[in-house]
Amino acid sequence: MKYVIAANWKMNKTISETRDFLKTFIPMVKGIADVDIVIAPPFTALAAAAEELKGSTVALSAQDMFWEERGAYTGEVAPGMLLDAGCSHVIIGHSERRQYFHEDDAVVNKKITAAHRAGLKVIFCVGESLEEREAGKTFEVIQREVEKGLANVSPDNLVLAYEPIWAIGTGKTASAEQAQEVHAFIRKVLVGLYGSPAEGLRILYGGSVTPENVNTLMACKDVHGALVGGASMKPESFINIVSFKKEN
Ligand code: PEP
Repeated sequence: MKYVIAANWKMNKTISETRDFLKTFIPMVKGIADVDIVIAPPFTALAAAAEELKGSTVALSAQDMFWEERGAYTGEVAPGMLLDAGCSHVIIGHSERRQYFHEDDAVVNKKITAAHRAGLKVIFCVGESLEEREAGKTFEVIQREVEKGLANVSPDNLVLAYEPIWAIGTGKTASAEQAQEVHAFIRKVLVGLYGSPAEGLRILYGGSVTPENVNTLMACKDVHGALVGGASMKPESFINIVSFKKEN
């Protein structure tokens, strides 16, 4: 399975900072053909990023979108607008969207459905909070998020990301055992939903991934890539993650 390494810049980087990053980063990835690399800048920098990425193998992603195609939705961005800006991917259901913008499973499901209808590839995030983990509810939460988020959704153009909320931006990474345990569980839920096509779905890990811990995490059987926040902001750091070596 080809691994995916995706950068989520969140609400960071102006247009010129985005161009500067890509001017340094794109030459660094020449010759890397065995990993799908995706970069998700803020909306305002997407079109400029698309210009910089022309001719490169690095894919462009948005961090969110609305589910309607057009209309009176002040402040929102439609799937077709992302395509127009040069995106091939969109991240849906990130825990920061769920936490700060109150996106529930039904909203996430509508967004995934609309993204697929438009032809976008979806990086669909799930993950439990520290409170839920400590209450022994990790599997229950993950099962609900996966099943509700993916109701009537095709397994095509779909990548999942397991992001334990307690590990995002905190410097606390899930151990390889913790990650593998949940990834294997997600795989089981996906097989329940899709049958054998689920075996081919890639499940990324996200949560304080760094050049130092990436090799160990990528060695887990059911981990097929990473969604990276903080450590994707500098080209030197992100290229070290993209060029991970699987430990055996
Ligand atoms: C994220 O934003 O998806 C993420 C995993 O962030 P960080 O790598 O900073 O924990």
